[in-house]
Amino acid sequence: MLGAMQEWTMRVTHVIDHAAREAGDREIVTRWADGSETRTNWAGIRTDALKMAQALEALGIKKGERVASMAMNHSRHLVSWYGVAGMGGVLHTVNPRLFEDQLEYIVNHAEDKVMLYDAAFQPIIDTMRDRWTTVEHYICFDSGEHTTAFEDWIGEQDGNYEWVSGQETDPCMICYTSGTTGNPKGVQYEHRSTVLHAMAGLQPAAFNFSASSVMLPVVPMFHAASWGLPYAGAMAGIKFVFSAVNDPAVLHQLMLDEGVTDSAGVPTVWLAHFEYCDKEGLDLPPLKAATIGGSAAPKFMIRRLLENGTRVQHAWGMTETSPIGTVGGPTHDWDQLTLDEKVDKCAMQGRPTFGVELRTVDLDDMGTELPRDGETSGALQIRGPWIIKRYFKADKDAVGNDGWFDTGDVGILHPDGTLQLTDRTKDVIKSGGEWISSVELENAAVGHPGVAEAAAVGMYHPKWDERPVLFVVKKEGEEVEAESIIAFLSDKVAKWWLPDAVEFVDDIPHTATGKISKKDLRERFKDYKLEA
Ligand code: ADP
Repeated sequence: MLGAMQEWTMRVTHVIDHAAREAGDREIVTRWADGSETRTNWAGIRTDALKMAQALEALGIKKGERVASMAMNHSRHLVSWYGVAGMGGVLHTVNPRLFEDQLEYIVNHAEDKVMLYDAAFQPIIDTMRDRWTTVEHYICFDSGEHTTAFEDWIGEQDGNYEWVSGQETDPCMICYTSGTTGNPKGVQYEHRSTVLHAMAGLQPAAFNFSASSVMLPVVPMFHAASWGLPYAGAMAGIKFVFSAVNDPAVLHQLMLDEGVTDSAGVPTVWLAHFEYCDKEGLDLPPLKAATIGGSAAPKFMIRRLLENGTRVQHAWGMTETSPIGTVGGPTHDWDQLTLDEKVDKCAMQGRPTFGVELRTVDLDDMGTELPRDGETSGALQIRGPWIIKRYFKADKDAVGNDGWFDTGDVGILHPDGTLQLTDRTKDVIKSGGEWISSVELENAAVGHPGVAEAAAVGMYHPKWDERPVLFVVKKEGEEVEAESIIAFLSDKVAKWWLPDAVEFVDDIPHTATGKISKKDLRERFKDYKLEA
């Protein structure tokens, strides 16, 4: 026997319909690359999305086909999130920072039919055009200098359109991983997974959105669905402030002018903002909440934000997890904690939202489930309705027989559910049969006043198998010795974790998503020999 409640197919179109109906006049502000500003609202976004859906159909785009975007954060990009999904298409948000070979691979692999892009990326478009074999139409979001301009293109339509209906499990967006090993892999989000993920993002234990929230997301719309914020924000009817440039001076001014309460970005974004404020002698903007994710948030960053009266939401996830896995918010005992204790708590990666299940398994056999004791570290596995099952066009599932997806991360689960990420399986250092967290070494090292960036890598050692070597980029104008770094680390990590060597380098290689590329670093130092 079935239940007797109404049928309501979980589709992304409900999200924009809701926002337009219940928060139609809530503003969406964009500061464009040329310095101009535009204002629309949720009702305007929906109207434009309807027109865009019509315009895509007029181009001959069919349900299930992929439409690519290569764009920063702005209202027209937001329109395309809902317009493409609304006509049954799949939006492929392309990261413009990928290498040319990767750009060629992913657009051809996704078989994108349309490329929507920002004028700022015209040089990339010009280089790639001949290499993209499936793209038939190019539309520029913010200029019509070289091709059709977005506003003109949708302006030809009347918006008299009905969203395409379908299954909850139809795809609506595809994001590719940055491909630290091998080719990038496509993760196809469903309407259902997207709606559920956004609902999880809304809750107080995650982004804590309410109607009074004013969010400036710095995390790009081309990176892991901008952490689902454009959907969660629509559900709550928040005001969005977008900036098509990531210049801290611009972001700072926008935050003040538009009364921004919430922001989200990777640690380097926050770092750049701190540096800007310090240089200009300014206070940090009076944010209520800051979401930090994508890489571990260093303690000094967390402390400074907390001292600023900003709630720190340290989040962990990956493209394969839509991306929310865990988010850190105030715990039940928050008010009793000292500042130091709060910083320590926030430095961990938070707790799973409802819908996400985590477990850790033994790194040696990758099967034995480990206790949630706050001490034992293991390979982190995840399952839930917005977690990947199979990569786009792959011939087999990405999950094991028991349905768990192996994240490639190493972590510790605490009895209260908190996840403490300690490393990536590929980067964790095995010394004399025991594991050393490269990430913890790095995080401790960047607390040294003379260290701009640090990367710890396990190097071959005849006795211990591997020993950590710390590669360090000095802060500009600072004189730092290896000894002072080791001394600095000695009360922060176990003695046997201390690096065998500290090597000063001019730069550390990064991936397209701005993370340290250990693979490239290892390659660069493949002939490195530790003195036994
Ligand atoms: P890619 O894996 O392609 O670099 P993702 O954005 O999907 O791009 O990266 C996901 C990975 O980033 C995670 O598996 C984890 O290693 C790392 N990561 C994400 N958030 C955090 C965090 N808060 N702390 C530490 N590492 C994180």
